Amino acid sequence: MTVPEILEVEMYRRAAELVVGRTVRTFQTNDAIVVKDGSHIQALVGSGVREVSRHGKLMTIHLDHGSIDLHFGMAGRIIVDGRSPIDELVYGASSNDRWIRFGMDFDDGFLAITDPRRFSRVGISQKTSALGPDAFSEGLFKLVQPRLPARGCIKGVLLNQQVVAGLGNMLVDEILSRSKVDPRRDISTLSLSAIRKIFSLVVVILPELLERGGSHAGDLASELRVTGSRCPYDAHELARDTVAGRTTYWCPQHQK
Ligand SMILES: [Zn+2]
Repeated sequence: MTVPEILEVEMYRRAAELVVGRTVRTFQTNDAIVVKDGSHIQALVGSGVREVSRHGKLMTIHLDHGSIDLHFGMAGRIIVDGRSPIDELVYGASSNDRWIRFGMDFDDGFLAITDPRRFSRVGISQKTSALGPDAFSEGLFKLVQPRLPARGCIKGVLLNQQVVAGLGNMLVDEILSRSKVDPRRDISTLSLSAIRKIFSLVVVILPELLERGGSHAGDLASELRVTGSRCPYDAHELARDTVAGRTTYWCPQHQK
């Protein structure tokens, strides 16, 4: 299953826009692990949906009388009116009621989160000021620059949601492969122009992969994330190690 990264959450947001203008009749908030503020959310019954926004991997549903934050964790899927914007085939299995962790019912249709692993989180909206700029932002590097740490491996910097919001493990590996930078490289050893180049590639890669269908659709695609696979550019065997706490693939030939 694809871990929902910024591209998947953007697809979820677009799917969720279908419910803008509808009025909530009931909320399903029984899963106390996933749903944090069940009673506060229940108080929003009768509200209309005004807008659905996204910042990084966080989606927010804005209602007349309050807003609800949705984090999709490792395996959360959104279902709108019975359809999932991704994993159509997988959805057959995950339509099982016991995997629905949160739901909003309308006169016509519903919006729900299914999550077999229960890492999704739903709650009354918190301020997003702790998050860095959304990775889709125009002029991304200028926004990110004051947030960059003096040291730390570049992979960890790109994964840090307080630096830039939305990038996950697979996208960061893709970005560093195209930037020709070793994920273990310390940011203090990179020139400002090298760092700027990495962020200018983010702005190119995200819309491209959104078009291709998601974060699994990069050149360093999910099927290459196995031991012994080779670089799509130069056929050198990919290295694999834990970097910044995450399983990381890179090419020692072209990433320095
Ligand atoms: Zn290579």
